[in-house]
Amino acid sequence: MADPQVLVVGAGPTGLVLALWLTKAGVAVRIIDKTAGPGTTSRAIVLQARTLEFYRQLGVDRIAIERGIDFKAVNLWIRGGRVGRVPFGNIGEAISPYPYALIFPQDLHEQMLVEQLNLLGVHVERETELVDFTCDGDGVRAELRTKAGEPEVYHAAYLVGCDGAHSTVREKLAVGFPGGTYADTYYVADILGSGPVFDGEMHGALDYADFLAMFPMQGGGRARLVGTVRKKLHHQQDLRWEDVNQSIVRRLKIKVEAVNWFSTYRVHHRVASHFQQGRVFLLGDAAHVHSPVGGQGMNTGIGDAVNLAWKLVAVLRDAAPTSLLETYEPERVAFAQKLVATTDRAFTFVSAHGPLARRVRLRVVPRLLPFLFRFAFFRRLMFRTISQTAIRYPNSPLSQGQVGTVEGGDRLPWVPFKDVTGKMTDNFVPLTSLDWQVHCYGEAAPELKTICETRRLPLHVFSWNSAAAQAGLTQNAAYLVRPDGYIGLVDSGANSANLTAYLERWTG
Ligand SMILES: Cc1cc2nc3c(=O)[nH]c(=O)nc-3n(C[C@H](O)[C@H](O)[C@H](O)COP(=O)(O)OP(=O)(O)OC[C@H]3O[C@@H](n4cnc5c(N)ncnc54)[C@H](O)[C@@H]3O)c2cc1C
Repeated sequence: MADPQVLVVGAGPTGLVLALWLTKAGVAVRIIDKTAGPGTTSRAIVLQARTLEFYRQLGVDRIAIERGIDFKAVNLWIRGGRVGRVPFGNIGEAISPYPYALIFPQDLHEQMLVEQLNLLGVHVERETELVDFTCDGDGVRAELRTKAGEPEVYHAAYLVGCDGAHSTVREKLAVGFPGGTYADTYYVADILGSGPVFDGEMHGALDYADFLAMFPMQGGGRARLVGTVRKKLHHQQDLRWEDVNQSIVRRLKIKVEAVNWFSTYRVHHRVASHFQQGRVFLLGDAAHVHSPVGGQGMNTGIGDAVNLAWKLVAVLRDAAPTSLLETYEPERVAFAQKLVATTDRAFTFVSAHGPLARRVRLRVVPRLLPFLFRFAFFRRLMFRTISQTAIRYPNSPLSQGQVGTVEGGDRLPWVPFKDVTGKMTDNFVPLTSLDWQVHCYGEAAPELKTICETRRLPLHVFSWNSAAAQAGLTQNAAYLVRPDGYIGLVDSGANSANLTAYLERWTG
């Protein structure tokens, strides 16, 4: 490969996925991190279905699934009594090939991504720090401090800041990071223990003034606990497991034998004012931070990485105008702002003090949730929201057309079907090409075949079936699918001029 034209700063999940996509698509990349080694603590532990769909495109979904455990059910406890159980198993059936959420701790997850990059000959340059940078006409001049402590200047066509919440890239760009910080201090602990709640399911417990969430982890007797730190200790440094309120832990009859990792944190909610300035981009926690409610943060960073990766590939290959890169910010900032607002509401509710909030939390929600989960429409709504499969870009300049209920900017609906040998397969299989393609369910119009042949654009024609209809697709319509699995243009199939104009504008 030629000299890397993309410099990725930060080898957290966001930077690693960006580097993996670029490398798989044939773009040389340089990835640096100021730390000596990958993270060794579990931090974000939930992988959402949309992330697994992207991982299937990258050929790593099976590895994650083999190493993770699926999220079977959530149990709700009030003051030591179990008041409800919400089964999650296959909650997203007919929506995604991964109808569940996967528990895959961030240390194991990063290790898997690093392994995959190594297999492709890309190695994270450790103890290498971005110190400063300046932009000129044809690229970015990055000032690095290498492992040996030596200064180095590296000239890249693009600089991508995946350098976390305290981003140097964001600071040097002087991009604002407006938002705020919640008052309470929370703890996270990875423990080894025993008790009736070590049953492979998630448990959420509420008391008058406290909450505890327990997630199962790989390995017998291992679990993640998340809870609040007692108010009077909020400003104390060096808090330990012994300092947290143990009564809620005891009520769940959790016997803690060892605390493998303990950390306290304040929760912030902030979105950067810009995600792009010229040839420099902000992704992941460098661009947005919010409460961990719903396990969205890391998955959103991975979504940013995929969104930008294919656009960089296309522009660097001269297969798209540079204006394609300008669609990254509007597509991702809209989702980040919505996410911060939603998680803010959810988090404010979970952590609110006062008699009314307590009453709703302790009496209404524990009864309402299991009741609502009996209805298929509610289960689907929850899955679509939490799994990130509902993320769409309807207002993007890249999104065009509507046929039936499917619009340009929607994620390509997932359609399972049997192949000629009777084996189950689906319409996401061709997305592993990481390239543009056209899908047609039924018969492709002759003009569509001609355009695809002339432009060497892969045309995938699937038989029309009930699953396609159920997914909202329209028979014989043409769906132009972006490399990241979102629909760029949808057309009834009769208007080839629209498709030609779109391809000329965005694919050169
Ligand atoms: C205690 C804790 C618990 C968490 N729990 C959850 C959870 O339950 N659920 C959830 O969704 N999220 C959780 N998170 C958040 C989650 O870890 C982040 O959302 C995720 O790590 C973001 O990934 P990222 O790649 O964008 O950034 P990061 O993982 O922060 O990676 C940034 C990388 O950039 C490197 N870097 C920074 N500056 C430079 C520089 N100048 N030069 C070179 N390298 C640099 C850093 O060393 C780091 O490796 C938790 C975080 C913490 C700390």
